[in-house]
This record gives sequence, C-alpha cells and structure tokens, in this order.
Amino acid sequence: MAVTPPGTHPDRPLEPSPEAMRQLIHQAAERIIHHIETLPGQKLLNNQDGPAVARALVEPLPETGAPFEELLDLLDRTVPCSYNTASPGYLAYVPGGGLYASAVADYLADGYNRYTGAWVGSPGLVQLEVNVLRWIAELLGYPATAKGFLSTGGSIANFTAVVTARMEKLPENFLDGTLYCSDQIHHSVLKAARLAGFPAANVRQIPSDDHFRLRLDLLEGAMDEDRAAGLQPFLVITSGGTTNTGAVDDLTAAAEICHRHGVWHHVDAAYGGFFVMTERGKKSLAGIEQADSITLDPHKSLFLPYGTGCLLVRDGDALRRTHAVDAQYMPVIQEDPDFWDFHTLSPELSRDFRGLRVWLPLKLHGAAAFRTALDEKLDMALEAADALRKMPEIEIVAEPQLSILAFRLRPTGGDEASDNVLNRRFLDAINARQRIFITATTIDGRFLLRICALSFRTTPERMREGLEDIRAAADEVLAGTTVKP
Ligand SMILES: *Cc1c(COP(=O)(O)O)cnc(C)c1O
Repeated sequence: MAVTPPGTHPDRPLEPSPEAMRQLIHQAAERIIHHIETLPGQKLLNNQDGPAVARALVEPLPETGAPFEELLDLLDRTVPCSYNTASPGYLAYVPGGGLYASAVADYLADGYNRYTGAWVGSPGLVQLEVNVLRWIAELLGYPATAKGFLSTGGSIANFTAVVTARMEKLPENFLDGTLYCSDQIHHSVLKAARLAGFPAANVRQIPSDDHFRLRLDLLEGAMDEDRAAGLQPFLVITSGGTTNTGAVDDLTAAAEICHRHGVWHHVDAAYGGFFVMTERGKKSLAGIEQADSITLDPHKSLFLPYGTGCLLVRDGDALRRTHAVDAQYMPVIQEDPDFWDFHTLSPELSRDFRGLRVWLPLKLHGAAAFRTALDEKLDMALEAADALRKMPEIEIVAEPQLSILAFRLRPTGGDEASDNVLNRRFLDAINARQRIFITATTIDGRFLLRICALSFRTTPERMREGLEDIRAAADEVLAGTTVKP
C-alpha cells in the first residue's frame, strides 16, 4: 500500500489534496528556514566521511511511498556532509550563496509549470524572462539588438558562444579555425572548444602578464602567424574576472584588436559580470559592451542558487541563425522582434522557467540591494588585502581586481616544492578552524591560496574572523606545530 499524505486521494496519490499540499510545503519550509537560520554556526567543511555517507544511501527503486517527514530527515542527515557553499564563511572557488527568494521562485515556477521554451506557450511569463535578459543587457551597455538566454550555467553559455562564433565566422567545414585566450582562461572554455568540434591544437593559450591578464601584444602576432600558415583565426575569448585570481583582461583593447582582425570577441564574465552594477566594477570591466558575446553567471555574482547562467549576444540574430531549426509539429515561431522564442536562441527546447528565479529577487529587493552587496564584496577584498599586507610572513601574489585575491607564505629560500608543501599545510590549518573555507590554485608551479568574497551572506565581521584565523594559522605552520586535520 502506498503511504499517502493525509487528504490525498488513495487512488490518485500523485495529486495531493489542498490540505496535503499545504502540509508538504509547510514541512519543507520549516526545514529550510531552520537551515538558513543556523548557517553561521554550521561547519564549513564536513565531507571527510563522503564515501561512507554516499554508499549508505544506495538503494533500489522503492515500489511504495514513505512518509515525507522521514525523507526530510534523510536530507537533514545528508546535507551537512558537504562543502557548506551557503555559509557566510564560504570564500572558496566562486561562491554564490543562494537567495531565498530564488528558492521560492523555483517553487512557484514548478507549481505553475508553464512552457517557456516557445513564446506562444506562455507569452507573459516569457516576457518576464526577456525583461531579465534586457535588464542584464542594459547593465552591460549592450544595444537593443542584443538577445540571449538563461542557461544552466557559465559552461553551457561559453559552449554556446563558441558554437555561435563558429557558425558566424567559419564555413561548415571549420577545422582550419583557430581560437585564442589567455593561459588563465577558465577550463570550461577549453571544454567548449572541444565540444564545438575543435581539436586541442586549434586552441592558442597566450601567456598572461604579471597581473594575470592576457598579453595582447602576443595575441596579434599569434593570429598573423596562423593566418600566414593558412589557418582561420575566428574567435578571441577574454576574461571578465578569472577564476584563479579575478584578473580582468583589457577588454577595450581586446575589442579593438578583434574588430581589426574581423574575429568574434567573447568575454567570459561568469565570475565577475554583475560587478558592472557597481561604479568600480563598471570601470574595471570597461569595454565589455563592445564584445560580440558575454557569459555571466547569476548563480555567482547575482547570488542565485546553482543552476542559472546567462549568454548575451550583441547581434541577437546571430543566436537565431545558429539555433533556429524548423519542425512540422512545432508552433509558429514569432517574427515580431519584440517577442523571443528561446528554443530558436539556445540549444534547449523544453526547459524550466528559470527566468522567475532571477526576476523575483530583482523585483522583490530591487537592484540597489544587489549593487550595495556587490560593493561590499569589493570593499571586503581590499580590506583583506590590506590586512594580509600587514602580515610580514605573507606575500600577496594577486591583488584584488574585483573580489578575488591570491596569497601565500613568503618563500623561505628553499625550493619551490617545499614552499608548496608549507602552503598546503597553511591552507589546511586555516580551514581546520571552520570559520572560513578557502581553496587554492597553482600558477606557474606556485601553490597559492585564494580568497573569493562573493556570497551576500559574508559579513565584514566574518571576513575579519577569517583574517584572524589566517594570521593564527601562519604562526602555527611556521612554528611547525600543525597537526594535519
Ligand atoms: C564558474 C566559471 C565558469 C563556469 O561556469 P559554470 O556555471 O560553473 O558552468 C566559466 N568561467 C568562469 C570565469 C567561471 O568562474
């Protein structure tokens, strides 16, 4: 016998009664509210038992249902074994945070369950999502010709950008096409090139300068050389904030070079894009409006839960030329330029109504709240850099250009390998204190610790506590007293 929530029709268990629906959402909401309330005191790094936890959960498909409360308990037991990406102390990789309003939006969107892949399926809801895309395009300084779509993340946005550039700039037989980026580019770009059909040998990773920015002086030469060899340079991908160190390439100069060479210019601003909402960010990202296409990640610098990226293309018709394919069973595609059919602009046909996840928090809180939160992150990174600069045993390797910085214990005069071992211990000693969680990267053989301030939940106070921990961990490691956690 299927266990059904109270009030559910016993013969139609998939359609709960109003009372049962109320109970389900109430029980779920209580768990989430408790979770968010207790976030500041929760552990940040708690997955050492990962294999055991994962294996214990393996089970066959259940033939009958179980009580909801029991399933919520299972989630409550399972969630803590994780990187606590929602914690205010999460300064690792690229944090997002996860706005509560977006979680509520997902409930509403799934509850209504309207079709937003084609305009005709839900013209009003599609318009809400188009509004979101137009707002983002305007923030970037894009013209009214721009179009785009919300993806599941930056990787899919980058992939679609590479395919669109390929379709616009190269013949169907495209294997002479070459693309260019810095050695600091996010690996999703290399994956995108591969998925778009390009052998690794067609991707040129140009060295970066002392500030980890693409060396534009080498870019032109590389394109000229390839062209002389009979190849077809067609795409340059720059960074609007690298994941490694937050470096922003010179987007204005890159745009000028791309224009002169007739190649597509894509900016990967998955991490840094929404800093254009701030005065300082706008300055750092100047020139982004001249790019042919831009990747952003609302689930990073707009603080959304995971699952929402964005691609915008300056000449929106390029997306349509790349994606529109006819089929007899499909509804008529909109010819009115004001109305968008997402299935003609992106790889997907059926999709969730992810626009609501961005629309609701922007409408509910207003853009000013986001601008303030992003400004606070820029301040926080500068304050962290100031504090680290005052610690004589620490060397800042990448000053913040946006809200990421990279540092390490000053080299001891020994070899690089032993410096790296020491810094690895330093990282472990910081994270063992469980007030902040940071991660590392390796650049030119140097193991570097990085701080990425991006969660709306990270307060200046929490950052200060983290800096205390960094100081204490440095003392501990240098005194040789660390025991591996
Ligand atoms: C995170 C990131 C990506 C990939 O985005 P996903 O949303 O994780 O797929 C691409 N580029 C940069 C610079 C990033 O920080």
